[in-house]
Amino acid sequence: MFTHSIRWRLQLWLAFLLVCVLSGFGLTVYQLQRITQLNQLDEALKRRVAALNLTVRGGPMMEFFRRSDTDKGPGPRDFPSGGFNSGSRERPYGPPHGPGFMPGEKREVRLSPETAALFSGSQPGAFYFSVWSRDSNLLARAAGGPTNVSLPPRMGRDTSLHAGIRGKNREAYQFTELGDCILVGRSLIPDWDAESRLAWMLLAAGGGVLALGLSGGWLLTTRAIRPVEEISAAASRISAGNLSERITTSEPNNELGRLAGILNNTFSRLETVFNQQKQFTADAAHELRTPISVLISEAQVMLSRERTPSEYKESLETCLDTAQQLRRLTDSLLELARTESNQFDSDRSRVDVSEVARDCVERLKPLAAERNVVLKTELNPGEVIINSDRLVQILINLLSNGIHYNKPGGEVLVKTVNETGKISIIVQDTGIGIPEEDLPRIFDRFYRADKSRSRAEGRAGLGLAICKAIVEADGGELSVESKLNVGTTFKVLFPGAAPRARNIQVAP
Ligand code: ADP
Repeated sequence: MFTHSIRWRLQLWLAFLLVCVLSGFGLTVYQLQRITQLNQLDEALKRRVAALNLTVRGGPMMEFFRRSDTDKGPGPRDFPSGGFNSGSRERPYGPPHGPGFMPGEKREVRLSPETAALFSGSQPGAFYFSVWSRDSNLLARAAGGPTNVSLPPRMGRDTSLHAGIRGKNREAYQFTELGDCILVGRSLIPDWDAESRLAWMLLAAGGGVLALGLSGGWLLTTRAIRPVEEISAAASRISAGNLSERITTSEPNNELGRLAGILNNTFSRLETVFNQQKQFTADAAHELRTPISVLISEAQVMLSRERTPSEYKESLETCLDTAQQLRRLTDSLLELARTESNQFDSDRSRVDVSEVARDCVERLKPLAAERNVVLKTELNPGEVIINSDRLVQILINLLSNGIHYNKPGGEVLVKTVNETGKISIIVQDTGIGIPEEDLPRIFDRFYRADKSRSRAEGRAGLGLAICKAIVEADGGELSVESKLNVGTTFKVLFPGAAPRARNIQVAP
């Protein structure tokens, strides 16, 4: 489904954001324009009402003049020039309210050219007006204006300006202090046309920006996601059988480049582990095959003909030796597997390495004597947190190696050093040494530097691998230094245990 694709999701979000922003912007512009236009129109209406008001009250722009009953005017009529009069049908105006007025008089009003110019024209955008007398008689109205304009309702003595929409027109009206009503209006159709033009323009511009934004967004997401696609393609090409493949990226320093680097490192580690695993399986099979072959051939030889009891005994002893060798090997393999999968006994405790070393030396003295090797010690107390059986296992392994790979009359020195919070156990021998080229692989499983000697003695090449795994699992380090025919030094470094808290006795 395309909705699961990051690119489409980004695109949908971008579209949503753009639509929100553009509609917000468009609506704001549209609304502002509408309000401005209406305000301008209201201002124009107000100006015109004020101008007419001055005329009706007798201000500077007005020209009121009396007319006698005999002087028959044209009656209420449209004044293209903006002038208006009160014709014969107009009722008398009541008590005098301004200069030149008399009750019952007929009025003729002529607008100044400036005021008249405010109402010129009969096009849809032209302003119109109507004036009613205090007694609600229509005194005049602009030519070309709508004929159905009705007198707005009077609100007591309210003389403030009112504006509102009536039908398709915007109108403003005001009752003068004399009681006349002046109404000025204008059709809203031109404004609505302008608004709809603006709306279409905004829609077109918004659509353009949206299309542009979405295509830009599509290009950008395509560019941004390309490395991810490269990574997933490369990752899918990498399988158990093809772990040498790596992800190549043109921009190694950005986030995706760094991700590719991390994945490549992981693949490298996986490749190493896979290869080690393969090697280990092959080595283990090879190591197991030899004693099994010995067992089978021994049994076949014995069964090929009748044997004397002493021959049977000898053969059975060989089988027993081989079976014991097989058991040692499987025990070591099991031990290694347990150590590497961190299946440790959890009973770690505070152990003094000097005591454990002394104990191990005592246990190996018979073997050393048998091999004519002298065991020496330089033991300083120092405590580490470790499983003591595991520590014994490490020391027995290193010490027995020191005895095995030694020369007659040689020495093995065990030292424990407690320095700057670290505890070192050093096993130094004066034996045959390890060739320099073998040193880097000395801790590998099944690796034997002196193959003929080790194999002949039934040694599997697993001891140092097990030691290293145990030491590292306990947060320590195991290192080796060796010189051929001079001797070898193994150094185990552990973080020391925190000093014991002192018991402070408070006097009663
Ligand atoms: P092994 O059971 O064969 O001794 P280890 O893992 O203990 O297996 O040792 C690996 C190899 O390292 C040995 O086969 C031997 O060649 C070499 N080695 C280990 N310790 C010493 C030592 N103290 N002096 C010389 N060579 C040693």
